[in-house]
Amino acid sequence: MNKKFSDFCLLAILAGAILTVIPTMDAKTSEDALANLPSYNGTDLEYVHDESGNHFSLWSPEADSVKVLIYRNFNATEPVKEIVMQAEKDGVWRACDLTRLDGCFYTFRVKYRGKWLDETPGVWAKALGPNGHRAAIIDFSKTNPEGWDGDKGPEVNNITDVVIYEMHHRDFSMHATSGIVNKGKFLALTEQDTHSPEGLATGINHLKELGITHVHILPSYDYNSVDELNLPSNQYNWGYDPYNYNTPEGSYSTNPADPYSRIREMKEMVLALHQAGIGVIMDVVYNHTAGKDDSNFSRTAPGYYYRHRPDGSYSDASGCGNETASERKQMQNFIVNSVKYWATEYHIDGFRFDLMAIHDTETMTRVARELKEINPSIFVYGEGWTAGDSPLPVENRALKENVAKMTGIAVFSDDIRDAIKGHYSNAADCGFATGKPGNEETVKIGIVASTAHPQVDYSKGNNSKFAYASAPTQIINYVSCHDDLTLTDKLAKSMVGADKQKRMRAAKLAQTIVFTSQGTPFMFAGEEVFRDKKGVHNSYKSPDSINAIDWTLKSINAEQFNYYKQLISLRRSHPAFRMTTAEDIAKNIIFDKVDAPNLISYSICNNANGDEWKEIKLIFNGSDEARELKIKKGEWTIIAQDGKIDLGGIATTKGGKISVEPCSALILYKQK
Ligand code: CA
Repeated sequence: MNKKFSDFCLLAILAGAILTVIPTMDAKTSEDALANLPSYNGTDLEYVHDESGNHFSLWSPEADSVKVLIYRNFNATEPVKEIVMQAEKDGVWRACDLTRLDGCFYTFRVKYRGKWLDETPGVWAKALGPNGHRAAIIDFSKTNPEGWDGDKGPEVNNITDVVIYEMHHRDFSMHATSGIVNKGKFLALTEQDTHSPEGLATGINHLKELGITHVHILPSYDYNSVDELNLPSNQYNWGYDPYNYNTPEGSYSTNPADPYSRIREMKEMVLALHQAGIGVIMDVVYNHTAGKDDSNFSRTAPGYYYRHRPDGSYSDASGCGNETASERKQMQNFIVNSVKYWATEYHIDGFRFDLMAIHDTETMTRVARELKEINPSIFVYGEGWTAGDSPLPVENRALKENVAKMTGIAVFSDDIRDAIKGHYSNAADCGFATGKPGNEETVKIGIVASTAHPQVDYSKGNNSKFAYASAPTQIINYVSCHDDLTLTDKLAKSMVGADKQKRMRAAKLAQTIVFTSQGTPFMFAGEEVFRDKKGVHNSYKSPDSINAIDWTLKSINAEQFNYYKQLISLRRSHPAFRMTTAEDIAKNIIFDKVDAPNLISYSICNNANGDEWKEIKLIFNGSDEARELKIKKGEWTIIAQDGKIDLGGIATTKGGKISVEPCSALILYKQK
């Protein structure tokens, strides 16, 4: 989520303001006492099965007693068995059962301060019944699709080589024009040769055609808001309301009542994408939970997993009613082991952390380090901000301003985002690409990926005032995402009086800046076909009529699609756009002196990063007028001009005076 509250969160806050806040901790249990509780870093928590039987365990260091309830079905009213657990070391309760429990379901009940809490599937359920109320006992060897053993995601040497495509399952496949059978499901991304009514590729073939390297899927763990037993009601939700962190969301499966379905189908999706050469990034939301006192965290270890205010109430840096406490050892263990589980069991290639600055820098560093030990190609990035204040000291927060402290972590650049298109929350505000002066220096900050550069004056930055990244591998560049207005809608609301053609030019210019800047480019699904969301900025629970991509747009806006496709190809075929060190950027990027607003001209020199092109010149004109510049003499080939791009070359020039058309990018190169 962005630096703002969703309607959902506002409701949560209002509810909190009206209702009496029930303190979950009393004075006796201080934050210090929680910090000193024993922790357990084993990966066998809650349920494992081996030849010696069923092993149940629960981390609950302050429990008086714990028991496991076994059910025959996900909806059986009475348990068939209750097993009393024994307290063992490190705060873990354990029990073993020797009977055959395949196909059964279980929950835990914790007695805490003399009172039995409500049932919970625990925090480590790896298989679930519908709506995630009970954990399921299944044979994981039966969840692997054919070919899974040898499955591997694309190799990534540097995150700057990656092109990220952010997608919600329903947005991508729900529309009738997608030609996809399994609409809104994991399986949508396994269907080959799907097409729009005009015969253009949709689905996985569309992604291959566009040339992105990784799909970033919006939350796909089990979330709370969609009723999995009432799927025909066609509810939509982004999924930023976590319920069970270690099992896929049921509504994306073809049969949520079958615990195998969601697991097998998500693996089939990953396998199909990997076979297409595309990696899978999961959006993870460990920073808060959907519920508070009724969450699985609260029902297993009350008070422990959350931060609180001095009066005992939940603190709320997420804007959603609570925030988790990653600085506590067991919460840190939980986050680290959870992403490691997704990386190993589901072959996930990257993780995007929602409101990452709610977590501490030490936890995020550990996340990146331990994931790299599993697979060096895995990368991690996140939102380097919170949505409210937190008891966590600012210096410990995984803020973008602290990214230099976090090896292996990248952050979104809201600097380049807002500078290109105008402020995210002020619909009418324009930016560099839409004619508003004063954003030039911040766009330059984006071009050099927030690293120190002798020609960039950070004191003139709109958002950050210092070079916070120590390398371009720490920066994700974007101009829009699922949050806020789509780029199409933002341009419609801010470019007063502009026709569609002009808005499409502005979109091309905006994305050209993103895709040629140092750092890692990121785009929101459907922008390549100029999709909109009918002006709805916070579409987290809007119907498909707002959120689903209409694939006839691919034909209507074919020129836009072809431009983006070539832009991605330009980036992927030229390492000059993908430098990996701040030193290289400072040495190889030279900005030209220009004397007009909304104009930036720079060169990437010295066959940067091993590029075959000796010098690449990029001129961005965000104004309404053509601008004339002088470029030095040489054998130049123009590859982007006046809203067109052709890597094969549009024209050649010997240098000298050159005109840059209004609201467009000019890119040219010379071999020597
Ligand atoms: Ca769910």
